[in-house]
Amino acid sequence: MSTITQLIHSIPVDELTGAIAVPIYQTSTFVQEAPGVNKGFDYARTNNPTRQTLENIVAQLEGGETGIAFSSGLAAIDAILKLLQAGDEIVAVDDIYGGAFRLFSKVYEKFGIKVHYVDTADLQAVVNAITPATRLIWLETPTNPTLKISDISAIAAIAKAHQCWLCVDNTFASPVLQQPLLQGADIVVHSATKYLGGHSDLIAGVVVTRNKTLGAEIKFYQNACGAILSPFDSFLLIRGIETLHLRVKQHCANALAIAQYLEQHPAVDKVFYPGLSSHPGHALAKKQQKGFGGIVSFTLKEDTDEAAQAFVTSTHYFKLAESLGGIKSLLCHPASMTHKSIPDEKRRAAGVADSLIRLSVGLEESDDLITDLAQAFKSAEKKLPSVLSTSNIL
Ligand SMILES: *Cc1c(COP(=O)(O)O)cnc(C)c1O
Repeated sequence: MSTITQLIHSIPVDELTGAIAVPIYQTSTFVQEAPGVNKGFDYARTNNPTRQTLENIVAQLEGGETGIAFSSGLAAIDAILKLLQAGDEIVAVDDIYGGAFRLFSKVYEKFGIKVHYVDTADLQAVVNAITPATRLIWLETPTNPTLKISDISAIAAIAKAHQCWLCVDNTFASPVLQQPLLQGADIVVHSATKYLGGHSDLIAGVVVTRNKTLGAEIKFYQNACGAILSPFDSFLLIRGIETLHLRVKQHCANALAIAQYLEQHPAVDKVFYPGLSSHPGHALAKKQQKGFGGIVSFTLKEDTDEAAQAFVTSTHYFKLAESLGGIKSLLCHPASMTHKSIPDEKRRAAGVADSLIRLSVGLEESDDLITDLAQAFKSAEKKLPSVLSTSNIL
């Protein structure tokens, strides 16, 4: 059976009524026959049938044992961090998602958890950062916004040899392109707000674990702390996941067409897309991913904040917004938006140039998106002639 057929039929028909869509069990509690005698549900923070259906679907999608659905991606990350205690250390990818960095540095460091940030594309750097106190290795691959690729199975082997867990934030790839648990990771986490939801209409997070013991531990922390996904948002997320395979396939095709267009554009300096052979992670991405994803970043030859601002305010279909992974194309300027809180020098050293623009390529027709980018270059040039100083070809 193909994975798509398997996914669609892993969404159960309601046994009680035959409803083909997953019912929204909007209830806080469940009636018990006698104390402790119930139909598998007692209180909806602990468990809810709509959420449980979603959790089973994501566990299956990622090839894991236990799925847990949270009220946001950060709530999901937070629950994983609760596996640790004071004195424990984390080795994390250096261009980690900004919100995860904030959580690690402003919340968990306060409680005595130390984080070492390294370039995880360099395996030796990962090994060198491990100490006897390391309990967790934290990866994002591809990363945001330069789409750096790290070797999941090699780092899983390192984690195993040093008796620590490997957690992969799989938000950018989605389980359609990459299943880290099958490559040796212990935990996968998603901002389901992005590709899993896919329609820019909810905030959600999911955790999937390779084994049930770890799953039960994280579920314990979720129930103890309370950051659950609501029944309605669980329903919405299931509805989004139903078309995940189709959407991701089209995101990838559109993104590749756009990356190729940008690569030959005279105003563009560098294009970051793992599907281009010019990308340093291309060979590894080809090996560990089934496709290259829907995010494309690029820098301008005129590497200034002003040039980027002139461009990002000139597109029609690409809407200026944070977030990614939805059906509508978005663009953002990390230096003045998502990465604004990082000091300029540190940001530039991480490859996020002043003019870097990140595209979340949506599901519009790729020719229309390219036409939009072409007119945005022209319009940016009118606002700021130096944008196309090298040439006036278009
Ligand atoms: C958005 C994002 C998060 C945070 O998820 P929220 O749903 O916004 O809380 C975590 N990791 C990555 C890679 C993200 O893009």
